[in-house]
Amino acid sequence: MIFEGLADRLQATFKKLRGRGKLTEDDVNEAMREVRMALLEADVNFKVVKDFIKKVKERAIGQEVLDTLTPAQVVIKIVNDELTALMGDTQSRINISSKPPTVIMLAGLQGAGKTTTAGKLAYTLKKQGKRPLLVAADVYRPAAIKQLQVLGEQLDLPVFTMPEGTNPVTIAEQAIVHAASYANDIVIIDTAGRLHINEELMQELKAIKQTVKPHEILLVVDAMTGQDAVNVAEHFNNDLGLDGVILTKLDGDARGGAALSVKAVTGCPIKFVGMGEKLEALEAFHPDRMASRILGMGDVLSLIEKAQSNFDLEQAQEMEKKLRKDSFTLDDFLDQMNQVKKLGSLDQILGMIPGMGNLKKKLGDVDFDEKEIKRIEAIILSMTKKERRDPSILNGSRRKRIAIGSGNRVQDVNKLLKQFNEAKKLMKKMKGMQKTGRFSGFKL
Ligand code: GDP
Repeated sequence: MIFEGLADRLQATFKKLRGRGKLTEDDVNEAMREVRMALLEADVNFKVVKDFIKKVKERAIGQEVLDTLTPAQVVIKIVNDELTALMGDTQSRINISSKPPTVIMLAGLQGAGKTTTAGKLAYTLKKQGKRPLLVAADVYRPAAIKQLQVLGEQLDLPVFTMPEGTNPVTIAEQAIVHAASYANDIVIIDTAGRLHINEELMQELKAIKQTVKPHEILLVVDAMTGQDAVNVAEHFNNDLGLDGVILTKLDGDARGGAALSVKAVTGCPIKFVGMGEKLEALEAFHPDRMASRILGMGDVLSLIEKAQSNFDLEQAQEMEKKLRKDSFTLDDFLDQMNQVKKLGSLDQILGMIPGMGNLKKKLGDVDFDEKEIKRIEAIILSMTKKERRDPSILNGSRRKRIAIGSGNRVQDVNKLLKQFNEAKKLMKKMKGMQKTGRFSGFKL
């Protein structure tokens, strides 16, 4: 889970603090020592940590805080506020120009995820009703051009390329002319990267900037590289000038230090974060929601937004009708699992629900991954149409046949049928709650 180590440590520290009741200055100092260690271990920049702790302490040790009835809560709120401020307070949006096309230039080192992010950004903007044009200006890595073309095909969006050997500045310039005549209101330029920052790379990027005057220059950096990501951002900002940063691979085992240091060190806001390899895995970066996730307070707003943008409304209504008529089948169950999968891994989803961050640990290894869904799919596809529509006819011999046919054990078939029945019951219950307007939350 994102920021797992940091979240665990901070939550443990605050749990201790809550157990104290009245707080003394020593209690706060002790807690801040632990917060400091946790931040340093998450690879947050040393100076950033020092300033952060100083600010929190100044506010927390004021008499009025320690004398409140719930001092621990107040201290946690201060940490929450300061974490939010550290990451930039408010969500930073893309500057959409009033005179289209809006030109977005993506820069970054090789492997940071620039080309993938170009596709993700195009997908996000397309969903908002825009008509983006992707521009392949990474001429040194032929695979990058092909990669962008494949993404364009998947997204059903145009990709602008020019013959081999064309200068990237010319490509960018021509792309904008092309966009104007084909009514593309957004131009996303995928520039070349290098393994390391070098003069040649910077000169090329500056030349593109000077010629096309982008409305947004966004740097794509890999969160897994920790402090290096922050150094790269600082360098690019000084040399090229940035409007924002996109932090990729935050779904991996990144300790999160980069997300917490980029704004403080460079002054550039993080605008988006990459949470996976798929096109849907780009999230707008909300500092307040991220702070909330780190402190285990969940991020229900992002979860709702994710659900809204990923669920197909028509399909949902169809599903509701089926439930009402009690004709929810195993095929529908499989469809639903695939829809939920689009929201991200179970790990990511649970991290967004308050108090659920640690559920996964409590439950042990909940297998809700790609493999499990494949297994469920294999079992369901081994059934006849009639069986899928009416699982009640699945007697012992049918179950055995299905198990053999799908390469599983009879227990697996039984488990799936049990899950199906539970899901059906749960959905009926939620439907009832929707009607009465009462939803008392998830019971653990
Ligand atoms: P580029 O050289 O900067 O254009 O990098 P690519 O777009 O080719 O990405 C390099 C690798 O990082 C690819 O395997 C991508 O699938 C992967 N990648 C990009 N963004 C993310 C992300 O947010 N999460 C994960 N897990 N992988 C990512």
